[in-house]
Amino acid sequence: MDEQAKQPVAVIGLGTMGAGIAEVYARGGHRVIGIDRDEAAVSRGRTIIARSTDRAVERGKLSSDDRDALVDRIEWHTDLAAAVDAGLVVEAAFEDITVKRDIFTRLTDVVGPETVLATNTSSLSVTELAAATTDPSRVVGVHFFNPAPVQQLVEIISTVHTDPAVRDRLAETLHQLGKTTIGCGDRAGFVVNRLLIGYLNRAITLYGNGYARRDEIDHAMVEGAGYPMGPFALCDLVGLEVTLAVVERIWDETRDRADAPAPLLRQLVAAGHHGRKSGRGFHPHDGSDAAEPGPEPLRNRRDEFPDLLVLPYLNEALRMVEQGYASSADIDTGMSLGCRMPKPFDQLAELGPAAVLAGQRAIHAETGEASHLPCRLLVELGEAAEPTAALAELRS
Ligand code: NAD
Repeated sequence: MDEQAKQPVAVIGLGTMGAGIAEVYARGGHRVIGIDRDEAAVSRGRTIIARSTDRAVERGKLSSDDRDALVDRIEWHTDLAAAVDAGLVVEAAFEDITVKRDIFTRLTDVVGPETVLATNTSSLSVTELAAATTDPSRVVGVHFFNPAPVQQLVEIISTVHTDPAVRDRLAETLHQLGKTTIGCGDRAGFVVNRLLIGYLNRAITLYGNGYARRDEIDHAMVEGAGYPMGPFALCDLVGLEVTLAVVERIWDETRDRADAPAPLLRQLVAAGHHGRKSGRGFHPHDGSDAAEPGPEPLRNRRDEFPDLLVLPYLNEALRMVEQGYASSADIDTGMSLGCRMPKPFDQLAELGPAAVLAGQRAIHAETGEASHLPCRLLVELGEAAEPTAALAELRS
């Protein structure tokens, strides 16, 4: 075991994610210091872990002895000072920059100079949290997916300050715990949510602008592009208000008009139509036959799907590679493990870079949106003498 593994792992915030993360580390043999605000919150965290591990025993995935040992490895506290001996701290408190910044500032006075500080934020700036500490080189994002004990993927986010050795050590420990990690820079949505939510927002924009009917778009994405479900079915599952929060965060960062929240998404959220949980979203889920929320297309362009959604998505994935933000292999892994989507670079190979370039050029010519301009890497691949070979080289 390396140094980090011998020292306990502190988890701050024992809600849905923190409790899951505590379970992941304790299951892998680490001592865990679980910390929340008060006894009631700690007790909720204990219950989440008890239920989750009991379920694992019922399903035969964990013996009852191993469950007892796992739970025994976790200590429970209400004071941040309990993190004093931790080699790694994973913060999973509320998604609120003031709350998180305060935790990071206070941690600086508690932990030793070698302790790695990680945040499980979904959408806040890891760099801003790093700036609240005395040594930002030890601060990193570690984005688990829900439920953390089950979901294999973890995104590791490095800021401009992060020491690569810190990132590598964190990844190595997670691999020992059976996780698959991908690395990326610090931008809103990281890899998976950036690509997924960007695609959902575009689907809603086109639908709201009368390009095709709801079910025609859902159908085209499943049948034509091999996605596990259509964008509107997926939005209803994720929650429209959750989707909107990520879209707004991306929009705040880029101010690129193509990233602007779809007006129809805002309207449905304002109307309280949050998806499955509220009984209605893009589809009705309350047994009613409520009319679909988008307009009847004047000129139906259903035949242009899935390309109208897939090509900008591939352009965005290539732009991430071009900008050194994430590798093609990590983007493929992220999208397939994080949301069961086809691997973008497999799709690019199937469609052919030259065809994707031509299609994206047409989308850019029609919309005039700067972000639809084919990125340099797409142009290079599409115009290469041997596009397939050029793409294979990029992926190697
Ligand atoms: P949650 O509301 O279930 O849990 C948050 C916990 O943090 C609560 O137990 C709360 O008492 C505790 N907390 C708040 N302030 C605290 C403080 N100052 N000190 C100690 N504990 C404090 O939230 P969650 O869904 O578990 O999300 C936690 C983090 O994980 C957020 O940053 C969220 O964006 C991120 N995340 C959530 C999901 C998801 O699907 N829920 C997925 C990935 C990442």
